[in-house]
Order: sequence, then C-alpha cells, then structure tokens
Amino acid sequence: MYKRYSSIVQLKSREIFFLALKFVGPVLLFSLISVSCGTGEKIIDSPISFSANRIELTKEYIHQHYGITPKDISIVPKIIVLHWTAIGTYDSTFAVFNKETLEGSRPELASAGQLNVSIQFVVDRDGTIHRLMPETWMARHCIGLNYESIGVENVGGVNDKDDLTAAQVKSDIYLVRYLVKKYPTIEYLIGHMEYMDFEGTPLWLEKDPNYHTMKYDPGERFMEAVREGVKDLHLKGVTQILNEPTNLK
Ligand SMILES: [Zn+2]
Repeated sequence: MYKRYSSIVQLKSREIFFLALKFVGPVLLFSLISVSCGTGEKIIDSPISFSANRIELTKEYIHQHYGITPKDISIVPKIIVLHWTAIGTYDSTFAVFNKETLEGSRPELASAGQLNVSIQFVVDRDGTIHRLMPETWMARHCIGLNYESIGVENVGGVNDKDDLTAAQVKSDIYLVRYLVKKYPTIEYLIGHMEYMDFEGTPLWLEKDPNYHTMKYDPGERFMEAVREGVKDLHLKGVTQILNEPTNLK
C-alpha cells in the first residue's frame, strides 16, 4: 500500500515536473536569449498615438509624395537616418510626435500634407532607447526617403548646437547593429543633414522638386563617431551612393 502510494506520488511529481517544464521552459529560454543578446542596452516600447486616421494620412502621404498606392504603410528599410530633435527633453519630444496631425507651427511641412512628423526610435540624453511605433511602419521624418528608411532621433541639438552625448553615440551604435541584423535589406547609414545628396538617385522618391528643408542634424562629429562604431558592417554613406555608376551626377 505504502509502496503503491509512493509510486503514485512519484508519478505525480514527474508529471508536475514536466508540466512545469512545459510552461516555465519557454519563459526560461526567452530570458536566456534576452540576456545573451543584451549588451546593457534595451529598447523600451513607448508608443505614440497611431489611429486608423494616422494610418490613412500616411497612405495619402505615400500616394501624394511618392506616387505609390500602398495597401498598408509597411516599408522595406534600406537606409537608417540619424537625427537630433532640436528639442531639449524626451517628454517634449514625445509630445510632439504623439500628435497625429501637424499644427500651425510648421507651415513649410503643412503645405505638403496634414500627417504629423514621427520617428521609429528616440534616444534620450542618457542613452535610453524608446521605440515609438512599429519599426517598419513609415514615419514622416526625412523628405524623399521616408518610404525606405528607419529613423532614429537623439534628444538634443537645440538651436543646432552639437551637444549629443557619448551615451547617445553608444546607443545609436547598438541600434544600427540591431536593425542591420534584423533587416538585411538595410545598406545605408546617413545623417539627416546628408539627405539631399540622395536627390536624383533611385532611392529618392519625392515627386515635388521644390519640397526641401535645410537640415544640419545630427552633426559631423556624431556621424563620425557612430560610423566608426559600426565600420565593420560596411554600410554605405553619401560618398558611396554618389559613386555608384547609376548615380553619377
Ligand atoms: Zn532631422
């Protein structure tokens, strides 16, 4: 009797063990993967408002500016564009991107559509990385290249002062590596200040030849530091695209 009871107990213990393994296993495995992939940095999801209306406005933008009638707003990323916000804090930056439509403060953009500006990632001054929207939804952040690019804003650069931090350099390097690994279609890394050099190349999709704004972000020093940190990825910049045989001006 005792023996029999004992074997039932044993069987139950074993079942419980395997049952526990079935549920706990994936969690453990996920934790292990997270730990092994992490290099100290992590990405925090901080979603901005992106209603069906904002999606519709995005589709309209794609149609109006790029002559494409998309079924959704997903993109195939080829370029990473780095920026600075020209806004001093993360909270104020989030508030700007959280609005779905443009307000009167940016008339140079409003004439080109009511869709508000947005960005996939914002890096705070201490290096904290926020993901504001799905990585491959089109964000309005770089004239001509929105439909092929993922953007990273860095908090700082108020009045075009080059004040981005070493922590931001480190986080941008991490993000570029993360994105290139995840999306093998990415071939280019540029600063927003370099975007107009893509005009006339196959990557430039803007139909309106007069739609430009002058940009200085995120500065030469920052771009050089990030490029140095990812040089083994052999991403192309402006020099390479201008030298590609089809793009010679
Ligand atoms: Zn910019």
